[in-house]
Parts: sequence; structure tokens; C-alpha cells
Amino acid sequence: MVVLTFDEARACVLREVGVSMGTETVVLAEAAGRVLAEEIAADRDYPPFPRSARDGFAVRAADLPGELRVIGEVRAGEVFSGRVEAGEAVEIMTGAPVPDGADAVVMVEHTERTGDRVRIDRSSQSGDNFNPRGIEARARDGVLSAGVRIGHSEVALLATVGHMQVLVYRRPRVAIVSTGDEIVEPGEQPAAHQIRNSNAASLAVQVCRAGGRPEILPVARDTYESTRTLVKQGLDSDLLLLSGGVSAGKYDLVEKVLAEFGAEFYFDRVMIQPGQPLVFGKACGKYFFGLPGNPGSTMITFETIARAAIEKMAGLRVPALPLLRARLTRPFHQKPGLTRFLPAVLSADGATVEPAKSHGSGDVTALARCNAFLVTEPERTEWRLGDDIRVLTK
Ligand code: AMP
Ligand code: MG
Repeated sequence: MVVLTFDEARACVLREVGVSMGTETVVLAEAAGRVLAEEIAADRDYPPFPRSARDGFAVRAADLPGELRVIGEVRAGEVFSGRVEAGEAVEIMTGAPVPDGADAVVMVEHTERTGDRVRIDRSSQSGDNFNPRGIEARARDGVLSAGVRIGHSEVALLATVGHMQVLVYRRPRVAIVSTGDEIVEPGEQPAAHQIRNSNAASLAVQVCRAGGRPEILPVARDTYESTRTLVKQGLDSDLLLLSGGVSAGKYDLVEKVLAEFGAEFYFDRVMIQPGQPLVFGKACGKYFFGLPGNPGSTMITFETIARAAIEKMAGLRVPALPLLRARLTRPFHQKPGLTRFLPAVLSADGATVEPAKSHGSGDVTALARCNAFLVTEPERTEWRLGDDIRVLTK
């Protein structure tokens, strides 16, 4: 039995899993959310011309303060054909090319125009209020590297440099196998002693968010045959997620069945709560996670540990787990030894956080009502009102 701390378990996944997906080309409109698989270079200098950052007047800084003769105007999308000589200015708009001869732009708010004269009472420095050609990037400079998630600002950059198609990593197919004799499908009417399958539903959402393609398989019953059949089927995908059946119960068969498939187990317990019996390994060349079946355990162990595996496979260079810090509005204490993830409500501005009422990791109503989890350090037992505490958002 390999028992790890939370940090060790996450580090183990990050170390073990590498990029394993091939690549494909998608059009720019479909690139958001995907992981970039190529280096993107600037097609020309950026900005491609000295670009005014303000509405105002293009001047020679050495002429100021003083009164200048306005010799013309240049708007965005135009080029001023003449040259600014000593004592002259050109009226300029944001985004327009700074005319030859000028070396600064003065904001219109700092000028006083009368006919073809403009009075500027303050001095100016060469380079003020415009971006020289090539200051942001030079032609052929790399501007994005492979391994980043494409979001709106990356799409903006790809559009800027004229990349209408982009090479991205393929999304891993992630098999989801729920286990348990008590589990029925959400569309079914359960008997009093049965539970609807919520884990497959939450995992599918989390897998999509991580960049994978969820494939929900039938529920494995708590028998060797049923579990074997579904594990075998699940190992056809790029990664296998199992929920339930990894605790110490008599009918928790997942690890035994995986062992029959020649599994190597990197860990089979993590010092966290919820989710302590979390299992990670490899069988038939595929990684798998055995996620404990309580809905809270499944959600937390996926989010904090298994998600990183999907992200690594899918090419993401730096899988992140950003934790905020917020002020605690209610004290609490805990027994030492475990990193705990406790349902909580984070204020809209992220400043304060309140522990939420929850009746354990099977309490789906509490999980849906909370918008965050408090993250405790394992050795600390007392948390006072106003303490700064780490927070994982949902
Ligand atoms: P297990 O990890 O199999 O011991 O399950 C722990 C608890 O989670 C039990 O109360 C199960 O009924 C519940 N559970 C297991 N799988 C699911 C599932 N797919 N959806 C909802 N609850 C589940
Ligand atoms: Mg079970």
C-alpha cells in the first residue's frame, strides 16, 4: 500500500504523466479551450508602424513647451505624407501612424487649439504616448508557445497574426465507469435503497472542462465479472476514471480487478479528506484513477489530482491548481494529519469565506450550494475568525 500526502500525490501525477496525444488542426473559431501544439510567430513587426496611443498632436518633443503650427491631420487607417519639422505639429488620432519627424504625441487634453496653431504648456519626452514599430514583437519572434491553453486573449493574438487555422492537441478520450450495486441511472426511479448516478454526470462536466472527451460507460456492478468487463472496456480509452469500489469494504473490487490486468499502482491512498482511498496507476499502457465514490470525494479528487493527468496528456505544459486566500468568517478546528477540502461560500469579491453546513462527502445538496472549498494544512488544528485561509474555487 502506497500512502502519499496531497502534495506528493499531485507531484506524482505531474511527474508520471507526459504528453501522449497527437495533434489536429482546428479553425480559429473552434480553438478556444484547446491546447496549442505549435509555436506561433509574429508575421510582421508589432506594431507594424509607430502607433499613436492617444488622440492629440504628433510633435517634436524638443519644441515643447510652446506654440506649434498644425500642418495637417492623420487618422487611424491613414498615413501622413509629409514630415513634421521644427515648430510644427500634426493632429493625430489613436491608432494612427506617427508621422516622420515627430517623436512624441501630446494628449489632446493638454493642448489648446486656435485655428492652425496649437498651444502646449507642458514639456514632453521623446517616445511619449506612442508605441514604436516592433516594440511589442519583431517579425518572426515567437509570440505563443506550444502547451498553453487557448483563451480569448490567445485567440486575439492568433487573429492579430493572421492564423486562421491552428494546430492543437487532440482531446483524450476519458472513460467514466461508475461502480456499485446501488447505482441506477438518473432517468430511472430508484427503489428506496438505491442511489441515482451523479458521479458520471459531474465527472463528465469536469473532464470536458479539463480538455478531455468523456465517454460514460455502463455502471459496473460489485462483482468481479461486471467490474472486469467494464475495466477492460474502459482501458480502450486514453484514460480510465472509476468511481467507487476503492474503499476497504468486502465488495470494493476495483483494485483487485485492476491488479488482474497487471496494473502498476503509483499510490492507493492519499492523506486528504474527502477522498482518502484515491488510487492512481497504469494498466495495459493506460493510466487510471480509482476515485472514491462519495460525490464530494469524486469531485475533489478529480479536481485536485486527476484533472492534472488529463491536462498533461493533452499537452498543457503547466497544469495549475490556483488557490485564493480569503478571510475566514467563522472559526473551526480539525484533527491533524489530513489536507481537508471543506465546502464553503466565498464572497462575490473573494475577500471573505464562510464554512458551509455539510453532512459529509456524500452530501450533494451541500456541494451544490457551496461555491468553493476551504483547503487546510494537515498539521494545523485551529482556525480563528479573520484568519487567512486557502480557498479552492469550484
Ligand atoms: P464507495 O466508494 O463505492 O464505497 O461509495 C461510497 C458512497 O458513495 C456510497 O454511499 C455510494 O452509494 C456513493 N456512490 C458511489 N458511486 C456513486 C455514484 N456514481 N453516484 C452517486 N453516489 C455514489
Ligand atoms: Mg461501492
